[in-house]
Amino acid sequence: MIIQKETLLKIEILVRGVEFTQNALEKAKNDNAKIQNLVYNMPENSNIYRPQELLIKGKDGYSTVVSCITSHCEESAVIVDVNYKNELFASIDNKNIDDVIIEFVKEPNYYSRTISNGEILKKYISASGYDELNVLPWKGCAISKVCKFCGVNTFCDKNDNEVFNAHTLSKNIQIWESKKEEYFNNLNEAIEIAIDDECYQEHMHLIIISGNLSEECLDFQSKIYAEIAENIKSKVTNKLSEGIVVVMTPPKDVNMLIKMKDSGIQIVVFNLEVGNEPWFSKYCPGKGELGIDFFENKLKQAVNIFGKGNVWTNFVLGLEPVDKLIEVCRELAKFGIVPGANVLHFDKGNQLDCSRPKKEDVLYFFTELSKIYRENNIKPYYCSKALRTSLSNEAFDGRIINE
Ligand code: SF4
Repeated sequence: MIIQKETLLKIEILVRGVEFTQNALEKAKNDNAKIQNLVYNMPENSNIYRPQELLIKGKDGYSTVVSCITSHCEESAVIVDVNYKNELFASIDNKNIDDVIIEFVKEPNYYSRTISNGEILKKYISASGYDELNVLPWKGCAISKVCKFCGVNTFCDKNDNEVFNAHTLSKNIQIWESKKEEYFNNLNEAIEIAIDDECYQEHMHLIIISGNLSEECLDFQSKIYAEIAENIKSKVTNKLSEGIVVVMTPPKDVNMLIKMKDSGIQIVVFNLEVGNEPWFSKYCPGKGELGIDFFENKLKQAVNIFGKGNVWTNFVLGLEPVDKLIEVCRELAKFGIVPGANVLHFDKGNQLDCSRPKKEDVLYFFTELSKIYRENNIKPYYCSKALRTSLSNEAFDGRIINE
């Protein structure tokens, strides 16, 4: 197998984790590195001052971004340090990984800005990877039973630094109706400021994403997402590489899918997370009550409305046997549904009983996935600088070649 150096380093960080020397942490501060933004998830055994992502460039200029996954005792971590030229370098077991340029992903300038009512702009939007702009309308997830790998409810604020909350909104949907105009004004103001940031010069991936409202409110959640898309689309359309993307559990009423399409949403993402039983119900007990069939039927319905290649479902690689997951991906892709995966890592608040996937399984999965994409004329999500815990772009871009 031939693996380009920047991609090799990304793989090693995803399977081993990364640790920083004191010098590297000081450099992170001086370089204004983006630190954990605490809006959704945060690595286990981490603190808020830990750098969130690294940008790695290969000799030919190919760039990728990786999440700074924390280390674990099973394998030695990748160590990131600073050399005499004040540049970052990485090593594993004292052996340097050469031919790569490593930088911290910087905090976008808009993180320090406020909107006209004095609120910090980050209350409305944040950045993941290098060039994602995430709209998180509320914090928390009100699904009946949370997914075992997810720590989303760890970050529900006890203070008022959240616009909405999944639990209170699920109990009283009128809160949305009474506050939405004010929310749209603030969100639009935040986007207007953020859109000129350096990180969005090339392009932007705009994603509306949150935890679920309760199962009874799934149709209402899709109505909210459609209203947000309708309200912001004129501000963002020119910058977006794939249009407005929404990540959510699907609505029960098919008419809501049509409403979402009419609102300007171009891509819907209904994440299965796990493709096979018994692992689906084990690791996603709340989604398990809706059933795999519910998700698969909704994905297929959505293809009829949004078109082939515009309906995605993501998995967590490491929660089920890799061969079985590949088979599910193969089947879904035949319908024009785009499967993808993040390499399992452990976030604060997880309740998992399994280990991280092995490097061989990760390489096997993403090279097979790349073949599935080509056979079905579909492409991986976003780009290599946005997808920080996946290798689907790198494999598709020929940075991992199975000889
Ligand atoms: S549905 Fe599962 S993965 Fe998604 S936010 Fe809720 S608990 Fe987390």
